[in-house]
Amino acid sequence: MVDARDIREAVTALANPAVSGITRLSATDTVRARIALAIELGLMVVGEQLPSDHDVAAALGVSEITARRALKGLADEGVLFRKRGRNGGTFVAEPGASASVASITAYLADAATVHRLIDERVLLECALVHHAALNITAVQLDRLDACVAQAAAARGWSDYHAADAQFHLNVAASSGLDWALPQYAAALHALYRYFLPYPVDYLHGVNREHARLVATLREHDPVAAVAVIKQHVSVLHDSMFVGLTAGDPRS
Ligand SMILES: [Zn+2]
Repeated sequence: MVDARDIREAVTALANPAVSGITRLSATDTVRARIALAIELGLMVVGEQLPSDHDVAAALGVSEITARRALKGLADEGVLFRKRGRNGGTFVAEPGASASVASITAYLADAATVHRLIDERVLLECALVHHAALNITAVQLDRLDACVAQAAAARGWSDYHAADAQFHLNVAASSGLDWALPQYAAALHALYRYFLPYPVDYLHGVNREHARLVATLREHDPVAAVAVIKQHVSVLHDSMFVGLTAGDPRS
C-alpha cells in the first residue's frame, strides 16, 4: 500500500532530481562519455567510421566546436583515430582504451534518473498518442509517413536521430493537446541527453515500430496505438545503457 510519506518522497524526488552524474560534466565531457560508452558496450565497433563533426554535433545536441574538441580528446586518448586524405575521417580504435574515460562513470551514476525519465516519457506519450488517434488529420498522417521514410533512408545514427525526434514531436502535435507539448518536448530532450550512438541496422528495426504506430493512428484506434507506443518507449529501460550495464539498480 502507498502511504502519504511515500507520495511526499516521490513528489520531492520528481521536483528535485539529484544533482549528480552528468549535470557535473562539461559539454565536451558528455560527448566524450557517450561515444566512449557506446564503444564500451559494443554499440560501435573497431574500425567503424564516425559521422562528420557536424553530424556528431547535431546528433548529440552540442555545438560543432564542442564535438570537434571531444573527438580530438578521444583521439588523443587512443579511443578513436583520425585518418587524413580522401578516405580520411574519424574511426573507432582498438577496444580497451575507452575504459580510461572517467566521465563514463558519471553516466552510469545517473541510472535512476534515466529510468525515471523513461517512465515520465511513457506516461506523457501514451496520453498524447491516445488523443492523436482520435484527432489526427490526413495532413498530419502524411507528415508522419514522411518522417518514417526519412528515418528509413538514414545512413547513420545522427541522421536517424533527427528523423526520430521529428517523428515523435509530430505525433505529439497531432494530439491537439498543445498545452502539453512543452512538457513532452522537455521530457524527450532530457532523455536524449542519455542516448548513445546505436548501430543503424538496429535503428531501422526500431523504425518499423514507427510505421506500425502510424497504421494504428490511421485506423483511429487509440487502444492499439497506445499499446504500440507503450512498448516502443518502455523498451528503453532495457535498450538504453542503463539496461546494458551491471550498474542498473533494477537488475
Ligand atoms: Zn522512436
